[in-house]
Parts: sequence; structure tokens; C-alpha cells
Amino acid sequence: KRRNPGETEFHQAVYEVAMNVYDYIQDKEKYHQWQILRRIAEPDRIIIFRVCWEDDNGNIRVNRGYRVQNNNSIGPYKGGIRFHPSVNLSILKFLAFEQTFKNSLTGLPMGGGKGGSDFNPKGKSDNEVMRFCQAFMSELYRHIGEDTDVPAGDIGVGAREIGYMFGQYKRLKNSFVGVLTGKGMEFGGSPIRTEATGYGTVYFMQDMLAHQKNAIEGKTCLVSGSGNVATYATEKLTQLGGKVVTLSDSTGFIYDKEGIDKDKLAFIVDLKGRRRGRIEEAAKEFGCEFHAGKRPWSVPCDLAFPCATQNEISTKEAHTLIENGCQGVSEGANMPTEQEGIHAFTAAKILFAPSKAANAGGVAVSGLEMSQNSARITWKEAELQQLLRDIMQGIHDQCLQYGKSKDSDYVDYVKGANIAGFTKVADAMIAYGVL
Ligand code: NDP
Repeated sequence: KRRNPGETEFHQAVYEVAMNVYDYIQDKEKYHQWQILRRIAEPDRIIIFRVCWEDDNGNIRVNRGYRVQNNNSIGPYKGGIRFHPSVNLSILKFLAFEQTFKNSLTGLPMGGGKGGSDFNPKGKSDNEVMRFCQAFMSELYRHIGEDTDVPAGDIGVGAREIGYMFGQYKRLKNSFVGVLTGKGMEFGGSPIRTEATGYGTVYFMQDMLAHQKNAIEGKTCLVSGSGNVATYATEKLTQLGGKVVTLSDSTGFIYDKEGIDKDKLAFIVDLKGRRRGRIEEAAKEFGCEFHAGKRPWSVPCDLAFPCATQNEISTKEAHTLIENGCQGVSEGANMPTEQEGIHAFTAAKILFAPSKAANAGGVAVSGLEMSQNSARITWKEAELQQLLRDIMQGIHDQCLQYGKSKDSDYVDYVKGANIAGFTKVADAMIAYGVL
């Protein structure tokens, strides 16, 4: 805390990993000797830059851009770019730190990074977004590369923004390489990248339930958010026989007792994705409840999928979920549960999948997009669907290996993911010596 004053989200993420890893390495001298934990918690490099662009009225605007390159021990830095007014160094450092462990869990050769800007895409015209993306890439391009650092999308950065940034990179470098993932299919994108995070989050829940000889079918589910992760989690849950009764955005949540089926979801994807509207309009269209300024966690459910943003399940809300009979939580968003909330879930022994395991499907398919770009081929969708399924199962198995309790059937997936993610990166760092 002395070295990183005021970076509360970063402290939270490091503390949570350190708690588990410290216990694990107690009797493993090499990790102490090489100061691995301290070294992983110090990013390799942080780049901060001015992004200057012109709005539609000819005003000059100034934003701040960032790229946190946390650790490249097992592959090029890899992690998304976030455009949101709340973006600051603490948030990006926590995300880059988490990404390092998540990418390790996928089994693919990817290091950890994250970037973004405090630019707010809401209410901006298409041209303004394009000019901003071009200005952002005009500095970022010199710090990234297909073998160095490969950014992707995140909150506020979808196919449109990736297209503008990729175009600018290509123009500046005169080089067509896989320097970003989440690209359009016409210029090197991979099938199922868009669906992968949401689907993966649901697959992880499916595996946790299967381990207890249970299934998603017939379960009432809460999903928060209504962006990329939330909508594809909803689609997969519905396909597997679950009933999703909530979705949300930054203005509140909708509660539809009948369930948000395929047609309703299509309406929401158009509303939030294409028209960039507010979720309340969906409540009017479906004739269901809208709760302004609230989050969905007070609605009774069997399963919960936070898919919006960090710290969106408070400790109090975690207790409410438990009291209302929730049996499992799978984190689609990054670090959506407050620290004490996580402890409440594990103390109550409900299934709890931490984000670095549960939402790794997106970056896994990004890793597969990188492989396809390097080989200049596109794999078939069915092949990629199977690979995503296998990778999520592989992550579940690693969590079991390190998270199984000695004296009960309970699996601590937080501990399992932290230790499994750590060991691979740590062993690579030791192999390199003091760097
Ligand atoms: P999107 O921008 O597509 O959607 C974000 C959703 O969350 C929107 O509904 C947005 O509401 C809501 N939201 C954002 N910030 C807040 C906030 N401060 N309070 C309340 N609601 C908020 O992002 P994604 O779906 O891509 O990302 C969601 C989460 O998943 C993030 O934590 C991200 O880091 C994580 N993630 C995403 C991956 C991906 O592949 N996309 C991969 C791994 C993790 P509104 O429309 O009102 O802004």
C-alpha cells in the first residue's frame, strides 16, 4: 500500500491472490528466494499518454490513455482495452494483474496486460469514436506488436472500436498483422470470439454443477449487465434450459418473471448494441419490472452471473443472495464481488467461480485468433466451439487439483485458480533468473 497509495482496486486484487499463494508457497523455498510474489505485483512497464482529438463541433478534447504491461513470462502481453470515464491506473493495474493469472490458466502462451482511457463513448457520434480511436492508436502503436503486446476489447470497446484501431495501426506501420484480437471476420477475426466470454462463464458453472451431479436445466438465473458478456451468457443459459430473469445496465435492472427468451434477448442486443439505448426501454417492451438505480441481487434465484463491472456485488448483496437460496455464482465480469462477499460465499460453501477462471473463455479464443493470424488461416466454427469447451474444462480441472479440500467435498475455486495460475508464471520467471 505504501508503494501504490490510493490504488484500492489494485490492493484488493493483489491481496486476494497473495492470501492463497502465500499459504501454498510456505514450504516451497524457491518462490521465496526469487521474490516471485513481489515481482508479479510490480508491472513490467506502464505507459501513460495524452490522447488529443477533435469533436464534431470543432472543440479540442484531451483524454488520458494507458497500457499496463504486467508480465510477459509465458507469452506476449495480452489483455483488453477499456473506454469508460471511471478508468484510472488502479483499475487498469488490477485488471492487468488478474489477466496474468487468467491467461496462464488457459494453457495458451499469453502474458498479462490491460489498457484503456477515461474517454466516455456514450453520446459520441460514430465519427467522434473513430477520431478518438485513431488518436489513441497514434501513440499506442509504438508500444504493441503481434509478438510484443496484443490488446483486445473490454467495456466500451467492441467490434467497431477494434476496427478503427486496427485500421490506424495498419496505416501507421504499413503492416497487416494480428496485433489486436476481436477483429471483424473480414480482416482476421476468429469465429466465436464475440460469444466466448459469456459462453465460457456458463460452461464453468456447468462444470461446477456437474461435479456435484447437478445441472443448469430448470434453474432460475440472475445476470447483470447487458453488454457482450451478459448477452452471450444469457443466450447459453437459455440454450441449456436455464431461465434468466434479470439483465441490467448502469441505470438499473429489469426483472422478467417469465424469463428473457431468445426473442427478448434479440431486442436487448439491438437496443444496447446497435441503438446504444437504456435497458428501461426493454422493460416497457416486455411489460416487466424496471428497478431504477438498483442491481439485481435481491431477486431470489438459484444461480447468479455478475457480468457488468468490478465490485458490483457488495458484501451485503452477497449475504442476500445466500439467504435467498442462491447455489452458485460464476463471475463473467472482472472482480465483480467485493472481498468480504467472496468470503461470505466460500464460508457458506456455495459454488463460487472467480473471474480469472470463469471469464477466461474470451481471452482463450483471442489466443486462438492469434494462432490463426500467424498461420494466416481461419479454423471452422465447430472446431473452435470444441476448443473453447475443452479449455474451460481444463481450467475447471486445474481448480479442482489445487482447490480441493482435504477433509470435505468442498472445492475452493478461488484458491484453486490463484495457485494454478501462479505456478506456471512463477516457474517461468525462475527459469529466467533475476530480471
Ligand atoms: P460491455 O461494454 O459490452 O458491457 C458492459 C455492461 O456493463 C453494460 O451493460 C454497462 O451498462 C454495464 N456497466 C459498465 N460499467 C458499469 C458500472 N460502473 N455500473 C453499472 N453497470 C455498468 O462490456 P463487456 O460485456 O465486454 O464487459 C463486462 C465485464 O466483463 C467487464 O468487467 C469486463 O472486464 C469483463 N470481461 C469482458 C471480456 C470480453 O471478452 N468482452 C473478457 C473478460 C472479462 P451501460 O450500457 O449503461 O454502460
